[in-house]
Amino acid sequence: MTSTVTRNPIELGVRPGTVAIIGGGASGVLTVRAILRNSAWRTVLISPESRPGRGVAYGAAEPWHLLNSRAATMSADAHDADHLLRWCRARGRPADPGDFLPRALFGDYLADQFTGADRSRSVHHRATAVGVRADGHGYVVTDDSGARTRAEHVVLALGNPPPRVPSGVSEAARRDVAFVADPWAPGALDAVPVDQPVLLLGTGLTAVDVALTLTRGSRRVPVEALSRRGLLPLAHPPRPAGPVALDLPATATLAPLVRRIRAAVDAGADWSAVVDHVRTRADHLWSSLEPAARERFLRHAQRYWEVHRHRMAPPTAERVAELREQGMLRFRTGRLVSIEPHPGGGLTVRAEGPGGLEAPRRYGAVITCTGPGPLPCSAGPLLADLLADGLVRTGPHRLGISTDDDGQARPGLWVVGPLCRGRLWEATAVPEIRAQADRVAAALPHPAVHPSR
Ligand SMILES: Cc1cc2nc3c(=O)[nH]c(=O)nc-3n(C[C@H](O)[C@H](O)[C@H](O)COP(=O)(O)OP(=O)(O)OC[C@H]3O[C@@H](n4cnc5c(N)ncnc54)[C@H](O)[C@@H]3O)c2cc1C
Repeated sequence: MTSTVTRNPIELGVRPGTVAIIGGGASGVLTVRAILRNSAWRTVLISPESRPGRGVAYGAAEPWHLLNSRAATMSADAHDADHLLRWCRARGRPADPGDFLPRALFGDYLADQFTGADRSRSVHHRATAVGVRADGHGYVVTDDSGARTRAEHVVLALGNPPPRVPSGVSEAARRDVAFVADPWAPGALDAVPVDQPVLLLGTGLTAVDVALTLTRGSRRVPVEALSRRGLLPLAHPPRPAGPVALDLPATATLAPLVRRIRAAVDAGADWSAVVDHVRTRADHLWSSLEPAARERFLRHAQRYWEVHRHRMAPPTAERVAELREQGMLRFRTGRLVSIEPHPGGGLTVRAEGPGGLEAPRRYGAVITCTGPGPLPCSAGPLLADLLADGLVRTGPHRLGISTDDDGQARPGLWVVGPLCRGRLWEATAVPEIRAQADRVAAALPHPAVHPSR
């Protein structure tokens, strides 16, 4: 069964019992799936893609981009870990629970979860939402097709804010074709020259993905990646380590928590298993930290957590090692000082390394790989409007939108996905998004009930 795709309807969701979901990536599709399975609500998914599900992570993926999690953890259904593996088998591509599947394949899987949704209760409206306003017992969503969707509940599944342009990048450099502000934007890497050095700002998984793409073709000039600490994501062990018994405190203060984790590893526990265990408690630990301790974590420990938590698939790590050996990929430690257009084309970059200010270097392109920017300044147009109208508020540490534990920003207005960060620490990966979607579905009242707002 397929969901109905609507084009230019005048009014959607006019019947009571409608939830509008804005955003057709993993978060939107998993939310539709959870609502249709666990409640009597109808759904209208508003997103511009012809086939929702892939989103940024799985839509822009090239064949060499692998999931950074094992197949066993990536099922759309928390209670059915084999769901993805069965789907792979049915497609004639058998997979093992420990495999790191191509991201594009996983995007197909998510897209199938949407097209397989109950057609009588789900609609895909292909458009970009431009406004949400409270209206009586619900909301009205307006979009760029001119349609209005009335819904008692709205779920914002808008994904990550785009990266912030780092300070030091001049206005002229920002406008230069050689400066790539968002590597995930469609066609962003198409014009990157193969015969000139390229600089990636950031050394995390995004930088690794971009480096793999840039070094795929005829490039013979190295790619460099710069970050303050020069830390590279670690690799998953070839086989998953068994679970660890680690007694974590109910509420956390930062230093004792770090000591406890270190002690477990020093006592012989596998570090990746320890990190995976902490991850299962991360939201709780994060919310139990005092705001000042969370700030200290963000300033001093976040990158260390990230390189252990967001790991490379082993084949990806092998390719990175190969590129480094060949001199085609170099990681540099340093602070970006400035980027200006070079009079002969490309950009001039100044950075301060461990030895002080370095000589300016010229690059054919500079690509921002620094991850999502902070709110409100990095918000896209819809979110910026909602923040300006006061319909939602920026959440703790400017990482996302302020919500309660279920992801509700205000009565009937929900958030699923990375925009929950701040309130929830682990809001970005599929297992956590799946759990958020289930929580929203469970928290929705029965459609007949109209809670007063
Ligand atoms: C490169 C990459 C690799 C990843 N790999 C893994 C992995 O291996 N394992 C894992 O667990 N997690 C992984 N993640 C994390 C996680 O799976 C993704 O962040 C997740 O897919 C987020 O999905 P999303 O739907 O919230 O956001 P997105 O994928 O960004 O989708 C947002 C959607 O909202 C739509 N939208 C935005 N604004 C509007 C609007 N105004 N109106 C209508 N629609 C709108 C967009 O068109 C899009 O459909 C990865 C993330 C990235 C970026």
